[in-house]
Amino acid sequence: MASEFELIARYFTRTAPTGLLGVGDDCALFPVPPGEQVATSTDLLLEGRHFFPDVDPRALGHKALAVNLSDLAAMGARPIGCVLGLALPRLDEPWLAAFADGFHALAAAHGCPLIGGDTTRSAHDLAISVTVFGAVPAGQALRRDGAQVGDDIWVSGELGAADVAYRLLDGQYPADAALLAATRGALEWPQPQVALGLALRGIAHAAIDLSDGLLQDLGHILAASRVGACVEFDRMPAAAALAAMDAAPLQRAVLGGGDVYQLCFTAPAARRDAVLAAGRAANARVTRIGQTLAQPGLIVLDGQGRPMTALPAGFDHFPAA
Ligand code: ADP
Ligand code: MG
Repeated sequence: MASEFELIARYFTRTAPTGLLGVGDDCALFPVPPGEQVATSTDLLLEGRHFFPDVDPRALGHKALAVNLSDLAAMGARPIGCVLGLALPRLDEPWLAAFADGFHALAAAHGCPLIGGDTTRSAHDLAISVTVFGAVPAGQALRRDGAQVGDDIWVSGELGAADVAYRLLDGQYPADAALLAATRGALEWPQPQVALGLALRGIAHAAIDLSDGLLQDLGHILAASRVGACVEFDRMPAAAALAAMDAAPLQRAVLGGGDVYQLCFTAPAARRDAVLAAGRAANARVTRIGQTLAQPGLIVLDGQGRPMTALPAGFDHFPAA
């Protein structure tokens, strides 16, 4: 039976890059470049709430870090390192090895080494907490409160696939192996848009990552920036895999579906070419879906240019009764 320290050494200790103190001491140490601010964010993932108990552990390791890197992306911050808290109900080394592989592979791809954490046995379900640290030149972070009236509203990537995969796996939609195969990657292997966030510094006025649904997350930008918006459903980049879906579930997936981990951002209309160039540089599709307005509120126009009613709500852990 491996001890706690053997597990940490085996699965979570990698050589820290020069200049960082990684796993093994009481704290990790990393330098902050002069003139830069630290951006930090934590996400907690709980079995049964954020992932299915039988999910591929490699995908889970990937996603636990991906959702945090997505927060750095939304701020335009460059990853520095991360820490990992694990509450394990049982010791399953093949599971742990695959989880660690998925985690370290994404960490390496983004230059975000695992530099510390905590590992305990849990009397309850599996819980995973990841905290990321990034750096951004002082004053250049992409915040939620920077949108200005008349900005274009953009989203990256495609929308809706993760929501459909989730509902298929959860049994809310009748089994459809082809649709699941076409959407599952979006749910289990989200790709955080770190390069796009960096490329949008100095161009975007405000940004957020899409974790709880486009309308809800865009709503956070609007509220923080004290502006309204009008967006057009037909402009939105619905995932190609959803082409055959009925209108109601399609709207629910595109407007309200969570777990997207793409960016929604605003930028001045005069910077359209710069946004498109940032998308190309980051190898990300970027789509303009509407604009901000002085009038508060969020209007969604249908294909006929009529305001849609009965809009889907995004995800809320504590919905009002
Ligand atoms: P402490 O008693 O100071 O909390 P621990 O014995 O919990 O230290 O951890 C020993 C070292 O291993 C620390 O550097 C800690 O950051 C690291 N560590 C523990 N668990 C993890 C993990 N899941 N991932 C990465 N590093 C970890
Ligand atoms: Mg500890």
